[in-house]
Amino acid sequence: MLHSLTSRIVFVGSIVSINLICLSGLLLSASNSMIASFEWNSHKQKITEIVSETLSDLREAQAEERGFLLTTDASFAKDFDDRVASALAKVNLLEQLVQDNPIQHERAQSLQIATNQRIDTLTKQITLARQGRFEEARSRVVLGQGRVDMAIIVQKADEIRQTEQELLIAREATAKAHVSWNRKLVIGGCLIIVILINGLLYVVLNGMRRSVRQIARAMSDFGNGNRTVRVDDHMGCTEFDMLAQGYNTMAARLDAAMQAQEASDDKLLKANAELKRNNEAMELLGEMAHRLQAARTSSELSAIICAFVPRVLPGIPGALYTHNHINNQLERIAQWGTPPVGCDSLLPNACWALRLGQSHSVSAPGGDVVCQHVASDVNAYHCEPLFASGEVVGLLYLQSNVEEENRFRLVALVENIASALVNQNLQKDLREQTIHDPLTGLYNRRYMEETLNTELSMASKNNTTLGLIMADLDHFKHINDEFGHDAGDMVLRTIANEIQNSFRSNDIVCRYGGEEFLIITTSHPLDTLIPRVENLRNTLSKLDLYYNGQPLGKTTMSFGIAMWDKSLSTDTSAIIRKADTALYQAKKNGRDRIVIG
Ligand code: GH3
Ligand code: MG
Ligand code: MG
Repeated sequence: MLHSLTSRIVFVGSIVSINLICLSGLLLSASNSMIASFEWNSHKQKITEIVSETLSDLREAQAEERGFLLTTDASFAKDFDDRVASALAKVNLLEQLVQDNPIQHERAQSLQIATNQRIDTLTKQITLARQGRFEEARSRVVLGQGRVDMAIIVQKADEIRQTEQELLIAREATAKAHVSWNRKLVIGGCLIIVILINGLLYVVLNGMRRSVRQIARAMSDFGNGNRTVRVDDHMGCTEFDMLAQGYNTMAARLDAAMQAQEASDDKLLKANAELKRNNEAMELLGEMAHRLQAARTSSELSAIICAFVPRVLPGIPGALYTHNHINNQLERIAQWGTPPVGCDSLLPNACWALRLGQSHSVSAPGGDVVCQHVASDVNAYHCEPLFASGEVVGLLYLQSNVEEENRFRLVALVENIASALVNQNLQKDLREQTIHDPLTGLYNRRYMEETLNTELSMASKNNTTLGLIMADLDHFKHINDEFGHDAGDMVLRTIANEIQNSFRSNDIVCRYGGEEFLIITTSHPLDTLIPRVENLRNTLSKLDLYYNGQPLGKTTMSFGIAMWDKSLSTDTSAIIRKADTALYQAKKNGRDRIVIG
């Protein structure tokens, strides 16, 4: 009803004003009543006084008349006239004053008549006296009629005064009752106004205080971090409703702005954290690349990969494969994480990443086709093919999903590893070239000397077997001369292959020079070595060699065997000389034979 603060204040003001007006009316009415009473009293007192004065004038006139009759002094007659005139004037005035009261008016008229009669009687007597007829006048006085008339007048006058007195008393009682009632009314009115004002002020101020408290509490809570706090905007007062709506709007906007700020801060923090992590990853990758460049062997490369990849992609187990061109297989060279993951080797077709030429991942069972090389109990994995110049150089297998935030690291990692593998392959090729004979593919003399040196040290230290076989084709010059140099080369390759196949993989077969070969063996003592060499000699002697369809005839080979023992020094030349001497002896003895040195 009274929704606005202004209307409430106006309402309170109106109530107070109405009460003050009522109170003023009451006071005005009381004062008017008192004035009327006062005037009425004066009127009554005046009537009483006039009655008394009339009686006094009549008595005076009567006394003056007697004085004149007794003394014949004319001055008495003159005073008599004044008194009579005064009495007549007053009795007439009395008749006028009591016209508002019919009973008193009737009495006044009666008093007026009696007074006139008495004055008439006195006037007749004094007229006789003025004519000198004093005795006649006195005789009329002696009759005593005057006393009777006077008694009647006094009685009538007393009746009027008595009545007036009674009216006065009654009016006074009524006035007193009015005054008392008005006083009570004023006191009651004042009390009601005070109570009303206090009550209204209490209601208004209490409503204001409650509303202000609600808003203040909400603001305080908001300030303390409770950003969801809102105020009921139906407080029953327009101004406070507006204040509450204003607060709610402000709080909502502030909350939205703070949320946006927090989201932005959060993003910034995440971006900074991501940047920091990426920087760390880049540093790690840089360190890894630096080491990979310096790696000489695959085992060194594996060790570097195993040390760094788990740091670049923490918590993701995996394996690295290199492509072996010889058997077209991907062979695992490194493995990290617990438990170890990835098969030993795989064919390129077994991996979808290698077949499609792009990364392939399965994030949940049934999410995509699973590569054949992946174990059946693996739910999520990622295969990253490693390419260089369009050629497959390897495969990075990760047994987990690679989250978006780690993609950047993965890309850098793949590039680094691919280039490391290329380097490794190049180095390997270079090294292969430096230690292998290009014609036969066997180790060259330089490598043989390095290896022999090492093996001699080992044999000397561990007292293990070490044998050296020096072999030379018999009359090889003849093939060159008769069939040409290319035919000679073909024969050298064939013989080299036969020798290589006759020994174990850990035996070192070298082309010592020209048509001479040297085999270092650590796996054969002399008694098993001789049959093996004999077997080789026999095989070679039975070979049917052709070049461009042309038979080259039989080829034989002579062998000199030297076993190292402590009597020999660890210098390579000693045992080589021993084997060479044995070979020389074999040649000398007729070729196509074995001589043990
Ligand atoms: P012997 O039984 O005494 O060892 O007789 P031989 O002819 O095998 O020995 P000789 O030292 O007289 O001749 C070796 C020949 O091997 C001479 C050389 O032309 C030839 N030769 C050396 N290296 C190569 C090569 O790489 N390719 C070809 N085709 N011939 C080679
Ligand atoms: Mg020779
Ligand atoms: Mg020869």
